[in-house]
Amino acid sequence: MNNELNDFFEVDIATLNPTNKLYYFNPYMIEASSNIVAILKDKDFYKIVLDETLFYPEGGGQPSDRGEIEEIPVFDVKEKDGIVYHYVNELPKSSKVNCKIDFHRRFDFMQQHSGEHALSGVILKLFGGANKGFHIGEQFVTIDINIKDMTEEMLTEAEKETNRYIFENQKVDQIVTDTEGLKAYPIRKEITAEEDIRVVSMGEADCCACCGTHVRNLGEVGIIKIIKAESYKGMTRISFLCGYRALNDYREKNDIIKSLKKELSAEESMILTKVQKQREDISALKKQSDIIRKDLAKNISLNIKADETIALIFDDIDFPTLAHIESILLEKSNTVILATTIDNKITAVTKNDAINLGQFFKSNIKTYNGKGGGSKDKVQGSFETKEDIIAFYTSLMSEVVK
Ligand SMILES: [Zn+2]
Repeated sequence: MNNELNDFFEVDIATLNPTNKLYYFNPYMIEASSNIVAILKDKDFYKIVLDETLFYPEGGGQPSDRGEIEEIPVFDVKEKDGIVYHYVNELPKSSKVNCKIDFHRRFDFMQQHSGEHALSGVILKLFGGANKGFHIGEQFVTIDINIKDMTEEMLTEAEKETNRYIFENQKVDQIVTDTEGLKAYPIRKEITAEEDIRVVSMGEADCCACCGTHVRNLGEVGIIKIIKAESYKGMTRISFLCGYRALNDYREKNDIIKSLKKELSAEESMILTKVQKQREDISALKKQSDIIRKDLAKNISLNIKADETIALIFDDIDFPTLAHIESILLEKSNTVILATTIDNKITAVTKNDAINLGQFFKSNIKTYNGKGGGSKDKVQGSFETKEDIIAFYTSLMSEVVK
């Protein structure tokens, strides 16, 4: 352990001033030099307290920043009673440290968070719906609006109106005030704090108390796109994307459309029609093939002699046809075992009480890398390879036809 830092382990956290939060004054600041004021040892990592910090701690729906303290990765940041803790696996060499945040991650959160405020402000204005929950996830950003089942029309209108404010590049002001000063602002949500209240005001779009990091102008949000809406605890949970996330999503969707166009040899506007047509074709073919299968089953069955047990393995008949053959053969046999190496599947049925098919499958099918089972008198199974099904079929035969 480095001597210079030893004393910081002894510091009583209760005596410290709240951490000076640089991200409040300038959320665009990427690098700063700070001083260590306390260190806590926790299992196999350390929690460093600095006099001032660039790092936003987890809170208010916004995840914590990542970055480095003297090139040591900061893997989590949390705040408790105004003190910000930086989680690291090793300690720097001295108490004066150079800090850097991952601005790509920070700016993504700024775009999502500012977009979320604007959308929530618009929904309140248009429909009187209040935001009751906010989360920036890995993939989507979600808000929970206390309106049951918002319609497609409402969502489209809210999306359009929010984007209008973004395209108008409404200015975003971040002000620190107290209960008295707050009266000047038409804030969207009631708050309980009395001093150091941060208000994020977005022109006509929104005004809300918030401790997160925001863009300077709404234009930096780029675009907001609602992806889906679903019922959630009597409310509507809206998932959306802003900025680079929306651009990436657009790129991925465009790539899918390009592949579909190629696959279907169709123009974009005809993709849906073409898919619907293919579905109808498949449905007609299925009906037709079912008729043919039944005929085929009848013809095959005619040439099979009645016996106590009928067991056959085919290499040219598929499983759906076997099912038809099975029902016909049951009229002239007590036990029917049919398998096919086309789909590597087997079906067996018996009217003989002395045979327990389900038990045999349960005890043996895994040995042959198969899946399936059923009752005492009716079973089905599928296998990975032709060799496996042939071996299992042979084993079942020797058990039944003793
Ligand atoms: Zn906020």
